[in-house]
Amino acid sequence: MAVSTNAFEMAQRQFDHVADLLKLDPQVREILRWPAREFHFRIPVVMDDGTTRVFTGFRVQHNDARGPNKGGIRFHPSETIDTVRALATWMTWKCAVADIPLGGGKGGIIVDPATLSVAEKERLVRGWVDVMWRNIGPRQDVPAPDVGTTPQMMGWMMDEYSKLVGQYTPGVITGKPLGGGGSLGRTEATGYGVIYTVREAMKHLKMDSTKCVAAIQGFGNVAQYAAIGFIEMLGGKVACVSYYDREDRVSYTVSHKDGIDPHFLMTITDQYGSIDKKKAIEAGYQIEEGDAWITKEADVLIPSALEGQINAETVQKISPRVRIVAEGANGPTTPEADEVFKSKNIFVIPDFLANAGGVTCSYFEGVQNDMNYYWTKEEVLSRLDTKMTQAFHGVLEMSLAQKVYMRDAAYMVAIARVVKAMELRGWI
Ligand code: GLU
Repeated sequence: MAVSTNAFEMAQRQFDHVADLLKLDPQVREILRWPAREFHFRIPVVMDDGTTRVFTGFRVQHNDARGPNKGGIRFHPSETIDTVRALATWMTWKCAVADIPLGGGKGGIIVDPATLSVAEKERLVRGWVDVMWRNIGPRQDVPAPDVGTTPQMMGWMMDEYSKLVGQYTPGVITGKPLGGGGSLGRTEATGYGVIYTVREAMKHLKMDSTKCVAAIQGFGNVAQYAAIGFIEMLGGKVACVSYYDREDRVSYTVSHKDGIDPHFLMTITDQYGSIDKKKAIEAGYQIEEGDAWITKEADVLIPSALEGQINAETVQKISPRVRIVAEGANGPTTPEADEVFKSKNIFVIPDFLANAGGVTCSYFEGVQNDMNYYWTKEEVLSRLDTKMTQAFHGVLEMSLAQKVYMRDAAYMVAIARVVKAMELRGWI
C-alpha cells in the first residue's frame, strides 16, 4: 500500500509537462498549479466509550472557474494534505474533460473507517460538516463519496447541513443513498464509466472484446462494477481482482482459472472492499500475496485502488500481452511508469477520463435534486454512456491530432476548457 511518490508533486509534474507543450502563459500556470483554497481542521468526536478523539480533516478547493467545486471525501489512515491537493486538482481536470459545469475539490480525514463503530462514523461525518458548512453548498462546493466513505455517510452529511442552514438541501452532497436524494445508477456509475471508455478504446484499436481478459486491482465500488461491466457489457473475462487484508496487513490477488465471478465475490466482501479469504478459497479461488494482479496475462489492466500503484518498479512486471490500461483509480500511474507505457505503445485511458463516470453521475444527481424529479436507471446510464463516449472521443481526437500520449491529450482538453472559463470570467 506504500505510496511511492508524493501525489501532488506527481499532479504538478503532469500539469507542467502539458503546460510546456501548450506554452501556457506563466500567470495562468501559477493559478492552475495550486489549489485556490485549503481548509485544515480538527474534529473532536466523542467515542462510544466516552473518551474524545480528535481527527484531522481537510477540504481543498482547486478551481471553480467552470462551476462549484466538486469532489469526494476520503477516509484513509495515510491521508495527507498533499494527497488531497492532488485529488482536488485531478477533479478540476476530470469535470472539465467530462464537460460538466463543475470545478475541482477534495476532502479527507486521517482515519481508518473500519476501526469506528457506526455511531462514531456518524458523529465524525457530522463533525466534518459542522466545521465546513459555511464553505460548502450546492453553489459553492459539493462533496461526494470516495475511498472509505459510503452513501449512508453522505445521507448523514446532507442531514447535518440541512439542519444548519434550516432547509432541506439535497444538492449539497452527492452519492446519497437511494430514497434519501440519491440517483439510480450512481453505485454503478464509476465502474461502468470505465468500461464505456474501454469499449471505445477497443473499437479504436480493433480488438475483439469477447476474446479479452482484464486484470483488476482493488475490489471496492469502482473495481466491482468495472468487473461486472467488463464481463456483462463487453463479454470479456476478468482474471483477477485484489484487495487489502486488514488482519494480515497485506494485499492479496484473488483469481480463478475460469475468470472471477464478481457477483459471487461481492457476497463475501465487506463495505470497504475486503474479501473473505477463507470463503474465496472454499469456492475454488486462488489467493496470491503482493502485486500478482499486475503480472497476470491480460489485455487490459484496470488499476482501481489507490494512487502510485503502477510505478517504476511494478511496471516492469506487466505482461507483454497488455494493450490497454484503464485507470479506475485516481493517480495510479507515476510519471516514471508512464514513460514505460509510452515506450511499449500501451494505450492509456487516463484516470480523470476513465473514472469520470462517478462525478458525471453526481452531476446528474444534483440536476435531479434541483428539479426534484428523478430519472429511471436506464435514463441515467444512457446519459452517462453518451457523456463518457463524447469525453473519450474528444481526448482521442486531441491525441491523434497533436500526436500526443492520451494522458497529455486529456490534460490539453481539460486545460483549454478551464482557461476559457477563466478568460470568460475575466480572471486572466
Ligand atoms: N470520488 C469520485 C471521484 O474521484 C467522485 C466524485 C464526485 O462524485 O464528486 O471522481
